Amino acid sequence: MTANTEIQSFDCHCLIAGEWTNGEAGNHSVHSPRSGRKLGEYSVPTGQQIDHAIRFADKAQVEWAARPPKERSRVLYEFRNILLRDCDEISHLKSLESGKTFAEGKAGLLKGIEVLEFALSIQNFDLGGRLEVSRGVSCEYRREPLGVVANITPFNFPAMVPMWTIPIALALGNAYVWKPSDKAPLTSRKIAEALIEAGLPPGLMTILHGEAPTVEAIIDHPLVRAIGFVGSTKVAKLVYQRGTHLGKRVLALGGAKNHIVLLPDANFELSGPGISDSFTGCAGQRCMAASVLLAVGDVDGHIARIVSRAASLELGKDMGAIITRPQVEFLRGAIERAERAGARILLDGREVEAPPGMEGGNWLGPTILDMVTPGSEAATQELFGPVLSIIRCKDLSQAMQIENSVDYGNACSVFTSSGPLADRVAREASAGMVGINVGVPVPREPFSFGGINASKFGHGDITGHLSLDFWSNVKKVTVKWERQPDSNWMS
Ligand code: NAD
Repeated sequence: MTANTEIQSFDCHCLIAGEWTNGEAGNHSVHSPRSGRKLGEYSVPTGQQIDHAIRFADKAQVEWAARPPKERSRVLYEFRNILLRDCDEISHLKSLESGKTFAEGKAGLLKGIEVLEFALSIQNFDLGGRLEVSRGVSCEYRREPLGVVANITPFNFPAMVPMWTIPIALALGNAYVWKPSDKAPLTSRKIAEALIEAGLPPGLMTILHGEAPTVEAIIDHPLVRAIGFVGSTKVAKLVYQRGTHLGKRVLALGGAKNHIVLLPDANFELSGPGISDSFTGCAGQRCMAASVLLAVGDVDGHIARIVSRAASLELGKDMGAIITRPQVEFLRGAIERAERAGARILLDGREVEAPPGMEGGNWLGPTILDMVTPGSEAATQELFGPVLSIIRCKDLSQAMQIENSVDYGNACSVFTSSGPLADRVAREASAGMVGINVGVPVPREPFSFGGINASKFGHGDITGHLSLDFWSNVKKVTVKWERQPDSNWMS
């Protein structure tokens, strides 16, 4: 199977009370960014359908929460087996609807399965704690689910980003409401079908499609206790403010403008592929993509290799498509504006042609802009495409000052052979995730994923150890069975 293999029409309706249900607020078509071909349809629920779905989920959660963690994990273990069995099919669908290459689609799903494996281990390490705090009195921690929790996800990782939260939230005994991206909603059906086949009871996974009205109805519903969000900073802020205004727990991961600091002593074998693959992978549509290269001193030899590797990529095979036609137009406009502002174009993706047979898709080749001015649009705004802006810096101090000045704070990498200089970048970077000779510094489980500044709103983590406190409550139980002779009011 390749990413160019077409599929039969594949619809994804809402999953409400364990049934695939036609959303009565309207149907929408989904087109492949690769070919423009219609892939299927999704339907949007009415407010009444949303209310019914969440109330059903709330009731279903009670029985699920009553199961010992090991019983819940058995269902999730089977879920893992099914995802692995159907990995190629799911990866194919998600690459068709998000524009990725098949290999990228598969890598994302496997990363999601890694989070699932972490969730399966919770039962073995999260044992609570118990201590005798005074004679005849003990205290213990008990972790309890929240009830119904919701998650709103972006288009660029239709399986991986949802899989950051689905297994952990379910393992902890919650019911899960998922609002997939309206741009790539179809993969959600495959994930939900795998959960149903694994034996997840009806109501524990609910899928509600749509845009702002669906999201707002979910956030506002009194039975939804916590909201996870991953997407652009603009919407992350809206979701965070709306949820926290209602006194709810919200963790909202936003957009990015990631820097790579390139020093002259970097290893050529690492810098060329590391930097080129970072800004071209997923056609630059990932929140960890390199966007600005801070070129310190004479690094022209490294830049030549980056340009030559990016120029050699075959569109459609090595690099995927852009999610929508308006986004291609926006990127072309941003390149033009950068050129007018004085940037030199080392590689121009506007000149490339669509792969044969995919002329109806949304294509733009890798683009490298040199001599970009700090503070300009290409230097500070998230473009979300295969565009690398090079800013020339006289020294590392200037590079770090530019890195620190941008609002976002997702990732920053450095390419160098010097341990002390790498350590300095790690210390001074204004980013939640730092890479040393790694172009896409995605932490692996159990290290969680997340930025700082305008890249994340809320505290704690969405995956990993710290996420347990987001997706559950910790109750402290103090126990006494007999009155002791030396008791006071605390003992
Ligand atoms: P987006 O913000 O447009 O959409 C994200 C989700 O919000 C979707 O489900 C969408 O339907 C919904 N939505 C859109 N407008 C809304 C509104 N006004 N009110 C409520 N909900 C709304 O993001 P996108 O274009 O799907 O994804 C790309 C963005 O996501 C980029 O900015 C990228 O950096 C970011 N992203 C961040 C991370 C991270 O971990 N920080 C990971 C992946 C993607």
